[in-house]
Amino acid sequence: MYEYRANLFAWVLYNISMEKMRKSDAEWRAQLTEAEYGVTRHKGTEPPHSGALLNEKREGTFLCVCCGNPLFSSETKYESGTGWPSFYDVIDSDRVRLESDHKLIMPRTEVLCAKCDAHLGHVFSDGPRPTGQRYCMNSVALKFKPTKPRVEDPLL
Ligand SMILES: [Zn+2]
Repeated sequence: MYEYRANLFAWVLYNISMEKMRKSDAEWRAQLTEAEYGVTRHKGTEPPHSGALLNEKREGTFLCVCCGNPLFSSETKYESGTGWPSFYDVIDSDRVRLESDHKLIMPRTEVLCAKCDAHLGHVFSDGPRPTGQRYCMNSVALKFKPTKPRVEDPLL
């Protein structure tokens, strides 16, 4: 019985943490910068080599810029040469939602935040081992939380 309750508790906590975040278009526009808003809420793509997180090499976690959902670990970040931050895996597959994208002639798989539906980027199957996946992300759709804050960083 105790175990059942503990599991139920964990399940409830998990569902609270993954509860959908819904905001109006005006609320998103007020919260985000123009670039963040265009990419995440209107499926835009930032120019390659423009992102602030492209060369981020510190240890830490990449969160959804809209809702703070932890999406990628620095451990799975790699240099893909595409000009966009690339990862070979998600922290947990439940953190993102995948959808078919037919905007270009070649169909692609769109990656969205499972919590707030932000457009993050696309996933391709030409990534490195062990997954073979390449999560090609827009830098402006993410924010970085370092594991060890630098001395000069304000408290997070
Ligand atoms: Zn989100």
